[in-house]
Amino acid sequence: MPPKLDPELRRALAARIRYYNEMGIYDFYRRPVSLHAEEIAAPIAVDEQDIVSINPNSGEEMSPRKAAAIAMPVAVEADENIFEVIALKPEQSVNDPVKALKIIREDLGDCTRCVLHKQGRKQIVFGVGNPTADLMFVGEGPGADEDEKGEPFVGRAGQLLNNMIKAMGIEREQVYIANIVKCRPPGNRQPERDECATCSPFLMRQIAVVKPRVIVALGATAAKTLLAMNSSMIQLRGRFYDFRPTGVRSNDPSWDGCKLAVTYHPAFLLRDPRQKGEAWKDLQMVMKELGMKAPKANA
Ligand code: SF4
Repeated sequence: MPPKLDPELRRALAARIRYYNEMGIYDFYRRPVSLHAEEIAAPIAVDEQDIVSINPNSGEEMSPRKAAAIAMPVAVEADENIFEVIALKPEQSVNDPVKALKIIREDLGDCTRCVLHKQGRKQIVFGVGNPTADLMFVGEGPGADEDEKGEPFVGRAGQLLNNMIKAMGIEREQVYIANIVKCRPPGNRQPERDECATCSPFLMRQIAVVKPRVIVALGATAAKTLLAMNSSMIQLRGRFYDFRPTGVRSNDPSWDGCKLAVTYHPAFLLRDPRQKGEAWKDLQMVMKELGMKAPKANA
């Protein structure tokens, strides 16, 4: 049996997690630990000196003990996972996906979490489409047209994506479309890794609300960020991956994740139209998974 946390440390951790939640951070990562007998005998594996909390009233730094003392009482069963119990996201308390997405958008606010907020963005491009879509497309980030209109995939690449969706026999309004980063990188450069890491938790929350059956990652940046893999497009394409956004529990009765496929970004296909046939093969694989009938004519 794993050692139980000291109740005081547990309360300090709860206060710490609540503090992060208030900043919009809900996902926590833990390294696997293997404890030796002598470590089990000393159950506090975290140095309390390393934990600094901020007093929400005064803004001052305070010790975990003080943080625990001013924290609201936390109803946590001793054997439950403290991270899963406390880190419920605000949208998880509503059933209506439209309202849930609105909550995430409000949580994002006038976001300044990464440097893209001060590099010429006109507006945040949140995501658009059917909030209960079976199929979701995820691109890299907004370009100039998207930045102008506040909607993903509305420029030339967007037109091609619309044609790809039509070729599948459905309309753009039937799917949900979003990007890894929600602000336009200057000069249409690729978003940096830290920008993707900072912004993508909001996308993960959107995915968890929409609960698609299949996600299509458009291009290498989307694929690598969602799958946390650093492979080439050739290696990534041509198969399905089991995908569950961070923060969705493995035993969630409402949704157990989805399939993820990788294809070329429409902007790349505009530059190299010879690859359209390959992209069409990827979409046919997705259609088969979704039980969609292949239309008679394709793009
Ligand atoms: S890209 Fe995302 S994290 Fe960065 S400022 Fe925009 S909304 Fe915030």
